[in-house]
Amino acid sequence: MHAEQLFTGISQLATPRGRFALRGPAMREIDVIPGAALAVTDGRVAWVGPADSWRGTSDVITELGGRAVVPGIVDPHTHAVWAGDRLADFEARCAGVPYEEILARGGGIRRTMRLTAAAPMEELVAGAERRLRALIQSGATTIEVKSGYGGTYEAELASLEAIAAVTPLVPARIIPTLLVHVPPRDTAERDAYITMATEQLIPEVARRRLARAVDVFIEREAFSLAEARAIFEAARDAGLPVKAHVDQFHAIGGLELALEFGAISVDHLEASGAPQIQALAASSAVGVILPGVTIHLGVNAAPGRAMIDAGCAVAVATDLNPGSAPIFSSQLAMALAVRVNELIPAEALTAATANAAAALGLDDVGRLAEGQRADFLVVDGEDWRTMVYTLGGSPVAEMYIAGVRVT
Ligand SMILES: [Zn+2]
Repeated sequence: MHAEQLFTGISQLATPRGRFALRGPAMREIDVIPGAALAVTDGRVAWVGPADSWRGTSDVITELGGRAVVPGIVDPHTHAVWAGDRLADFEARCAGVPYEEILARGGGIRRTMRLTAAAPMEELVAGAERRLRALIQSGATTIEVKSGYGGTYEAELASLEAIAAVTPLVPARIIPTLLVHVPPRDTAERDAYITMATEQLIPEVARRRLARAVDVFIEREAFSLAEARAIFEAARDAGLPVKAHVDQFHAIGGLELALEFGAISVDHLEASGAPQIQALAASSAVGVILPGVTIHLGVNAAPGRAMIDAGCAVAVATDLNPGSAPIFSSQLAMALAVRVNELIPAEALTAATANAAAALGLDDVGRLAEGQRADFLVVDGEDWRTMVYTLGGSPVAEMYIAGVRVT
């Protein structure tokens, strides 16, 4: 075999195996190849294995100096497009002010929506670029970004246009999602909002290819099951896969409804109990856990350990957003999944790579195997577990996307 590039001097190459989402025990059965080499051609992995079994030739040899290599992190759940900040809310919450009162003072998510809807496009793009660069710096090579703070037809489209505009500005692959996030407070306006979303917004987003999936926040304080069903039906009619924010505070049947529509992922799951875990394990969906929310809000953790033990496919994400998860590191989310959701390190690696890719419907990133995109990280150390061990500070020394060094 002849490759364009050969990477050698890899103390350990750690990668999930198989294809698609890995469930239950398969999440921890990763390959760890000591003394590895990695061959890349046309931006894809051409060969991977022990360096002493490489029999090919290459145009360029890059010696990595005895450091570990892992697949690039996939962050499958962020809300990176917003305007303004929530610093006053944060200070008030730390001082014991209830969220309802923060909302009544004009703060909370409604404040972010007001500011986002009013922001010029350049401001939305610049803010998103800054946040995405922080996630990339932490090791993310593929990042999902949701709309959802616009609120109106025009402002939701503007958020998706901001995602499209930021995409060529950053080296990571960006996957856009339309999120139907916050219902109008006035109950009389809710029906009109659902009609707008199902008859105008979703068809327009599909027509302009502004999103790869439709997400809905299903919760007592957000959209009801009946409303979410209408959104999912519209997404299906438009040919877009669905995903959903479910079981964040209450298990009201959102997970089951999303699975009925073949959701590619169900996200949050802090309030999921045994029936929801069983349903997820029996489905093709990936459960996305968000330990940063648990840390920032001091709320329950999603039952990651119980989910894997029951045979679920689990992924981890930052949920980067101004209100519940100002977590500007995808690597930190992976590391927190071990402490907060009781994953073991190999499971956390799979959750942040192969399973996170599956949560986005992707099968060409998230593992280092022949034919995959050559998105990988050179760890600042000889043991791959540094990636999961490190809290604060980046354990990523170098990043390659499609075989090209970007940091
Ligand atoms: Zn979210």
